[in-house]
Amino acid sequence: MSMRLSTEVLVIGAGPAGSAAAHWAAQAGHMVVVLEKETMPRERVCGDALTPKAVGHLHDMGLGAICDEFHQHNGLRMTAHGRSIELRWPTDHDHPSHGLVIRRSTLDHLLLEHATTTGAQVWTGVEVLDPIIEHGHLRGCRAFGSGNGTGPQGEIEVRARFVVIADGPLSSFGRALGTARTRTYAQGVAMRGYFPSIHHDDDVIESVFDLRDNTGEQLPGYGWVFPVGDGTVNAGVGLLSHHHGNDPRSMRELFDQWIGQIPEYWGIASEDMESEPKGGRLPMGASVRPRSGPNWVVVGDAAGSVNPFNGDGIEPALSNGRLAATVISDAIHSGDGLELRQYEKQLVSKYDHYYRLGRLVTKALGRPGLMRRLTLLGIQSRVLTELVMRISTNLVNNDAGGTESVYEIGKVIARLVPDRD
Ligand SMILES: Cc1cc2nc3c(=O)[nH]c(=O)nc-3n(C[C@H](O)[C@H](O)[C@H](O)COP(=O)(O)OP(=O)(O)OC[C@H]3O[C@@H](n4cnc5c(N)ncnc54)[C@H](O)[C@@H]3O)c2cc1C
Repeated sequence: MSMRLSTEVLVIGAGPAGSAAAHWAAQAGHMVVVLEKETMPRERVCGDALTPKAVGHLHDMGLGAICDEFHQHNGLRMTAHGRSIELRWPTDHDHPSHGLVIRRSTLDHLLLEHATTTGAQVWTGVEVLDPIIEHGHLRGCRAFGSGNGTGPQGEIEVRARFVVIADGPLSSFGRALGTARTRTYAQGVAMRGYFPSIHHDDDVIESVFDLRDNTGEQLPGYGWVFPVGDGTVNAGVGLLSHHHGNDPRSMRELFDQWIGQIPEYWGIASEDMESEPKGGRLPMGASVRPRSGPNWVVVGDAAGSVNPFNGDGIEPALSNGRLAATVISDAIHSGDGLELRQYEKQLVSKYDHYYRLGRLVTKALGRPGLMRRLTLLGIQSRVLTELVMRISTNLVNNDAGGTESVYEIGKVIARLVPDRD
């Protein structure tokens, strides 16, 4: 006999996307149940860097004070071809002018506890197995609890009016409802490890654009060193998949090669790595469709929301989660399920041109030699590097004019160029 439960909003998965959705829906006064298969705190493979925009979301959620306890970064150092340019995060925006580096085991636990405090019922150690579909309509899910987390043990059935699908890059629940990734869009693949470093508490993060394959050709991707402030740095490498393919061995080779090439400044030794490096996929550029149905919405990695310019997925996850909760809350209040169409509409109006441009850029970067030419050009000019930094972190100030009109031109080109293949 399975345990049964009913709720207004069911959230599947408790990464940043699911916890943000749960927080905002509970804050709006709705009954929310979150199911997470892992027990918290759990590890999540990531570079652990939050952009200023992501920090803005944490402040909006009421986590501003606790943010002060984590390691801040005030800028980005871009390095290529033996040159570096260091830039501060822009201040002409309505969110903080610093980012954070927080280990994901800590961040995700914090976000989920916050959702609990706001009023969501959270069951960890409960794996969602499949959707309950009746008369073609999603009614909830069947799940199984290990009994090791906050959830019960055994078979569980949760019925819900609305479902938020936040189950990460593989999104088996989304796939069961018919979501699919557009395979012609580039996907990111990345690997990271932790290393002790004398510069673990530097206030800049570093991205290095000098990744090479065995033939010496420059690859479309970058290596990073993100100071965590706890004695370690998170160092990793990320690449566009059309160049890398799906071979985990070659990713490990590339990672090892990159660790040997990290600027000496950081004082990193490969033998000091905290534990084996881990890798994962980054579904980017709004590559998953559909992103909503009559009573469900898909958020974060499950929706392919990672920023195609830089692999930043935490900010889009937090943003998607908030938008999902808002449209669901509107639908509950108005009694009109059609409100959920607003989710897709608002995603398109907010991000479509940006992601289209990103897809165009990632596609172009697959061309041999282009990455080298662009980085050689970019690293000569502070103005160009700053433009790249603003665009890649989606901190473009449209009022600024000047160089940022380049971005506007890019968006127009992206609109005109087909990006289906
Ligand atoms: C190597 C690497 C480095 C990265 N670096 C950065 C970075 O520095 N900054 C950045 O912003 N982004 C980075 N990203 C991307 C970022 O990690 C993701 O975009 C982000 O985690 C997406 O959040 P999410 O909530 O959508 O999904 P996830 O964080 O993947 O959370 C999904 C949750 O759903 C749960 N779940 C899955 N299936 C089920 C199920 N059946 N039942 C119940 N629960 C389930 C999972 O256990 C998980 O907790 C990186 C990614 C990788 C791979």
